[in-house]
Amino acid sequence: MVNFVFIAPPAAGKGTQSKYLVEKYGYNHISTGDLLREEVKKNTSLGIQINEIISVGKLVDDDLMLSLLENKFNSLLKEENNSFIIDGFPRTINQAKMLDNLLGKLNIENYKVIYMDLPYEEAKNRVLGRLICPKCGKSYNELVSSLMPKQDGICDNCNSKLDKRSDDTEETFKERFDTYVINTKPILDYYIGINKLINIDASKNAEDIFKDIETYVAEVK
Ligand code: AMP
Repeated sequence: MVNFVFIAPPAAGKGTQSKYLVEKYGYNHISTGDLLREEVKKNTSLGIQINEIISVGKLVDDDLMLSLLENKFNSLLKEENNSFIIDGFPRTINQAKMLDNLLGKLNIENYKVIYMDLPYEEAKNRVLGRLICPKCGKSYNELVSSLMPKQDGICDNCNSKLDKRSDDTEETFKERFDTYVINTKPILDYYIGINKLINIDASKNAEDIFKDIETYVAEVK
């Protein structure tokens, strides 16, 4: 199976597509946002610093991100099945180069970069209505009828109470989207240049997006 790296604006559905790929194909999901949120939950001094950055929609320091990612890879490579999805990294050209270096050191060439494109207004609606199950990770949207949970605020899968992400506010969304346009979008040219980029239209519904992504799973290089 080919490994995937996701690049997308906030709420394009990287998390949902990753979940589908994990469930159907057994990929290992590495979400840098999740790694950071885990650190925040521990309430360490590092976690508190990270929270200050995430809550205003800015980017966490590149070196810290790289060390979190390296730790994850070190444990992943000990597993028999180590096909992976990286969701949320790289977010800057510098991070793209760091990732190249890391994958080069590990002799991993078999990966594709999936760019999930989504316009500003649509990303904003998805962010402002987003609800997430803290237990099973399923994502809902209280503003989109096809994505609402059957019972208000409760997960259809596991009956847990749904949460809102603390950075899913209008103000933070704007900052996150601007950060994405300024820092992350320029990476696309870099990946086009090395023939790694796949374009996916993220304004479709999640099942159709998944069908598009699935056509690349068996592709190598
Ligand atoms: P996400 O869950 O991918 O939307 O990430 C949530 C937040 O975590 C982002 O808005 C950033 O503040 C931070 N973050 C996640 N990944 C990175 C990264 N690769 N570099 C810097 N900050 C990151």
